[in-house]
Amino acid sequence: MKLSRRCFLSLSIGGTVGTALTPLPWKLTDDMSIWSQNWPWTPVPPDGAYTYINSTCTLCPGHCGIRVRKVDDRAVKIEGQEGTPLNQGGGLCPLGLSGLQLLYGPRRIQGPLKRDGERGKGQWKPISWQQAIDEVSRKLADIRSQGKPQSLACLTDSDTGTVPQLFKRFLNAYGSPNFFRMPSVEDAYESVLSLTQGVDGFAGLDLYNADFILSFGSALLDGYGAPPRVMQAISRLKEQNGTLVQVEHRLSNTAAKANVWLAAKPGTEADLALSMAYVIIAQQKYDTDFIGTHTEGFEAFVRMVQERFDPQKVAAYCGVEADVIVRTALAFATAQKPLAVYGKGKGQTAGSLREALAVHALNALVGNINRVGGVQAIPAYDYLQWPAVMTDETAAAGLQTQRLDRARSPEFPHAQAIVHRLFETVNASPGEVQALFVAEANPCYSLPGSANVQEAFDKIPYVVSFSSYMDETAMQADLILPNHVYLERYEDVPVRSGTTRPMIGLCQPVVAPQLNTRHVGDSVILIAKALKGAVAESFPWADYESCLQEALGDQWDAISDQGFWAAAESAPASLDNGFGTPSGKFTLMDETIGAVYQVGEPSAAGDASEYPLLLMPYDSIRLTSRYVGGTPFMLKTVADTVLKGQDGFVDLNPETAAHIGLGEGQAVRLSTPVGEARVRVHLDDGVMPGIVSIPRGLGHTAQGPFLAGKGVNVNRLIAPVEDPASGLDAALGIRAKLTKA
Ligand code: SF4
Repeated sequence: MKLSRRCFLSLSIGGTVGTALTPLPWKLTDDMSIWSQNWPWTPVPPDGAYTYINSTCTLCPGHCGIRVRKVDDRAVKIEGQEGTPLNQGGGLCPLGLSGLQLLYGPRRIQGPLKRDGERGKGQWKPISWQQAIDEVSRKLADIRSQGKPQSLACLTDSDTGTVPQLFKRFLNAYGSPNFFRMPSVEDAYESVLSLTQGVDGFAGLDLYNADFILSFGSALLDGYGAPPRVMQAISRLKEQNGTLVQVEHRLSNTAAKANVWLAAKPGTEADLALSMAYVIIAQQKYDTDFIGTHTEGFEAFVRMVQERFDPQKVAAYCGVEADVIVRTALAFATAQKPLAVYGKGKGQTAGSLREALAVHALNALVGNINRVGGVQAIPAYDYLQWPAVMTDETAAAGLQTQRLDRARSPEFPHAQAIVHRLFETVNASPGEVQALFVAEANPCYSLPGSANVQEAFDKIPYVVSFSSYMDETAMQADLILPNHVYLERYEDVPVRSGTTRPMIGLCQPVVAPQLNTRHVGDSVILIAKALKGAVAESFPWADYESCLQEALGDQWDAISDQGFWAAAESAPASLDNGFGTPSGKFTLMDETIGAVYQVGEPSAAGDASEYPLLLMPYDSIRLTSRYVGGTPFMLKTVADTVLKGQDGFVDLNPETAAHIGLGEGQAVRLSTPVGEARVRVHLDDGVMPGIVSIPRGLGHTAQGPFLAGKGVNVNRLIAPVEDPASGLDAALGIRAKLTKA
């Protein structure tokens, strides 16, 4: 979609975003109670004493503070906890509000299960916890006795907090370097902070204090970062007449509420950012003090953008006119507190390292690094002061082997974990992984190329799932050791998005475990103890709770009472000593960064002559594609132009639809180089011509009757697009075609 000058969209909304958003949670709560009153398993609590427990929602990286109302022993309502740093107004998203459906709903796994038939066919035999722990420890002892400890891999949602770190510790003691976390925007931000600022940590984006937000595809009103906090920030921005510019290939909720929508072609965003840098430099609108005093490599950076990113050149292929690029760049550079934001959708993909660097360079040019309203680098959490891991000879040998994904090797030095490479390795060399632990992750559903992931699972001899739900990955397991759900367990969750100060949420039991489940931390400790020797000695704790209490130390009482711990508000790190680079300065350009900029963007897979369209997924706050799956309530909030009955829809520009001869609601076959599905068409002139827009979060094949069989899982139709600069998935969609069904 080429934007003409006249079409330059200035979508100032009549009221504030806050006005639009504020009633939503209450309306949704009301709808939920009306709609769900006929379910037999809906809580109908008897009268009794009302109590409230503060906890933390762990259903997404937002980690909102929650307050759960109970009547006697039964939880009856989840509401936002007032006064927490992340959701100060007490707001929650539809998933968080309907969390009781995840606690009391029927799709939970009742107790430990052992596969009792062909893998994936759903034939299970209930076993006791003792049998389950004995079986898994016997299997792991066997693999270890063959001298192959490195063939145990583990995949979890995150790598921070005691639970992921217990898994990592287990692998270290056992002898495997193959610990993986699911991909996210943090992968890119970690690399960017390391390369430019020499910081091992995460990016604190101070959206709340910014007055000009330039978002490169981030779903700021649809679940990015810490959603309630981000929505609050956008509401405040609007109230204070700030500016929101959204760069995105479709008129998403965020784009619709933005002052300016820049419909750039997917894959050209890095070039667009660098052409804005060109303008800021050419017009001398950069922060001369910050650039002169606190950066290195400015001259080389200038040479690069001058040679390659003249707005006239970039406009020819990115879909945004040159004068729009110039105006946006100047408006950004002359704002008081401009902030450029990286991360597509909800931030569940790493994306392009080149784009992440380019966006961060914009923040550096305007001097908004380690400043209020800018990007503040938050050092990694280091509160887990556990005794050293005991490593015997077998473990030491296993830990010397190369990671299966080659992350952190000279080939991919910037990546911590490249999950798609784990499964590619398994498919290419099946013997490399003898056993896999999966916790708080659903790779057979959530990863692009999920059919290949599932194929890899078929080749892994022993899979242990710790899922609370019968999700697509648990279906492929040999053994399921079901975890308590988040309302039944303790867990610390360090917050890494939506905050500019360190904060740890504490998820704590609101009700007693309802089923024969066990805390995943206890399962890990028991398996370690059953293995005996150095592995057992590395786990000195009697149980998970004592391990957690030791980790939180003298903060335990305060954090368990309040539900979270937050560092005191403090000024951002000083620019004079805030950079850990060899020069002590922000690195705009050096040899390593130059090599990243030199690498072009990869292109979406598929031959354009056979697949003339581009399939791009989008995120919605009404759907989730993370490990937990959605709730029945969430599905009821989805528009019938997204899901109607069992049919999922794709959004298509009317011009594109007319070209193919398609009309509103028509059933079509959507084909890509990796798969095909039957969908229906929704005409939407907010989608760029040539693009097929499809939601993430539908098309489950497991997770119970409320979710299974509804719509299409986009991950069956796309594949990872490996970013040559990082090895991570650049998430650029895939070529596609539509034919009449
Ligand atoms: S935004 Fe995330 S953490 Fe907050 S309520 Fe929703 S799912 Fe829970």
